[in-house]
Amino acid sequence: MIKIGSHVNMRGKDMFLGSVKEALSYGANALMIYTGAPQNTRRKKIEDMKVKEAHELLKENDILLDDVIVHAPYIMNLASPDSRKFHFAIDFLTSEIVRTDALGVKQIILHPGAHVGTGEKKAIHQIIKGLDEVLNQTKDVDVKIALETMAGKGTEIGKTFEELAQIISGVKDNHRLSICFDTCHTHDYGYLVKEDFNQVINHFDKILGSERISVFHINDSKNPSGSRKDRHQNIGFGYIGFDALNQIVHHPDFVEIPKILETPYIKAEDNKIPPYLEEICNFQNKSFNKFGNLNYL
Ligand code: FE
Ligand code: FE
Ligand code: ZN
Repeated sequence: MIKIGSHVNMRGKDMFLGSVKEALSYGANALMIYTGAPQNTRRKKIEDMKVKEAHELLKENDILLDDVIVHAPYIMNLASPDSRKFHFAIDFLTSEIVRTDALGVKQIILHPGAHVGTGEKKAIHQIIKGLDEVLNQTKDVDVKIALETMAGKGTEIGKTFEELAQIISGVKDNHRLSICFDTCHTHDYGYLVKEDFNQVINHFDKILGSERISVFHINDSKNPSGSRKDRHQNIGFGYIGFDALNQIVHHPDFVEIPKILETPYIKAEDNKIPPYLEEICNFQNKSFNKFGNLNYL
């Protein structure tokens, strides 16, 4: 069975328990959360996150903690040439890893960073230094950092497999590093994800080893390959299309790897609704029942 879900919210009173309920309402068997708003550093105490209740509900529904993923906030930049920002990123990522572990989650996705004018070489050096420090400070914590493949928007690092490989080979404790393969980002950078995914994966395998992939982000793209825009589109409505994404979701080499949707909410009259139940049903080849598992919400 494929492992598929979406990013879900963690807020209000139910926190982590609410995230699991939301995922179940989409018929998901995997999920991704941010430990708080991705744009800020305010975080609830772990005691208030309903971890035990969340774990019980996961178990009742046969969802493994291996298929629950945390995404680090975007406000950190390990590639920053500004020492204050660099150290902030180290400290906050360290605390996010501790929080991820307290949630019982085994991997945290990280955008490697942006060089903001200093160039790739210096940035990669800085990221390696930062990751070494973070991994050293969290030695006893069984959480992997999944570096995300980036679209190459602005000065983003991690847009090529080669850049990611340089980071991984530079880091001492690199058995704790893995890769989050984002279909929109790799397509937007210029990899032929739609036209020839197997060839993209062969290249990835040569440079990074395909066993490094610990999670996929399954997104369609609003732009053609090479645009470097990073604008996600709903499945089947973008330049990658349903068929190519469906093949990736069902790829025999990655059956055990969780796939996470980060597609945009859909405008419906005067509010916005999540597309995930329908998108997940389509990938599972199930007919779409718009009432879903509403008993969970
Ligand atoms: Fe991301
Ligand atoms: Fe992503
Ligand atoms: Zn993106």
